[in-house]
Amino acid sequence: MFSWDDPGDRVAIAQLNSELRNAHLELLSAHCATHQLRLRYSMDDLARFGQRDVLRKSVQAASALSEYYASLEKTIVNQEPSAPLAASGQLSPELLAEAAHCVAAYLREERERYYPSSEPLSEHHKTRLRPYFTSELLDRIRVVELMGVRVAPPSFYERARALGITNLPQLAHMDSLTFLDVIVFNETLQMRALFHGLVHAVQFAILGVERYTELFVRAFAHTSLHVTVPLEAHAFNLESRFARRPPETFWVADEVLSWYEGGRYER
Ligand SMILES: [Zn+2]
Repeated sequence: MFSWDDPGDRVAIAQLNSELRNAHLELLSAHCATHQLRLRYSMDDLARFGQRDVLRKSVQAASALSEYYASLEKTIVNQEPSAPLAASGQLSPELLAEAAHCVAAYLREERERYYPSSEPLSEHHKTRLRPYFTSELLDRIRVVELMGVRVAPPSFYERARALGITNLPQLAHMDSLTFLDVIVFNETLQMRALFHGLVHAVQFAILGVERYTELFVRAFAHTSLHVTVPLEAHAFNLESRFARRPPETFWVADEVLSWYEGGRYER
């Protein structure tokens, strides 16, 4: 059993959380792939025409995962999941509109705060990312490495907590944060986190900041968990496809447009 008092254990706990986050990303990706199957093909067609051994192995893998996480769930103590805010009737449409307005204002303020200390992307990064993003976007994007200083929580978090809103996104623990066209790294720039941040920059460019925050806030009120907000889940999904070996190639603007037009950012 680990202890916070032991410095060696603290490193191990950080490692544990990094592996947990990786597993979570891969699970989201598996979830997404299965969801696509479910949308496109009937159970009967899958059972009849799917390759037998692949079907069996998929079922076995999913059952083993389900068993493991079910026992993990039983072990979690003192972790009462908060009820979805919309379901608990805490957030009126007026309050949701106010929250979206606050988030949009916050994104603009932070963009102005970090822009003066930001830098353009290096040629090395641009070359690596050209199969996914337009040169126009890669030339426009700016990056900031905070080297552990970390982004402070927004001032409206206090009011949100007073309203009983819990599970607010922990900005200080995120690898990257996108403030419109400025991507801020709490530590140093990592390729995968850069890719994630760029997906959000494309979402901002296509949806506009007002529509983005409106969709984000509404989905967050519905799920109470920021990683399940579709705008976020999509960024995790594309980031994971980019990180595959060999990496997949796709055009992020097309992916974002197709999700947006298909109503998949709504909840
Ligand atoms: Zn994100």
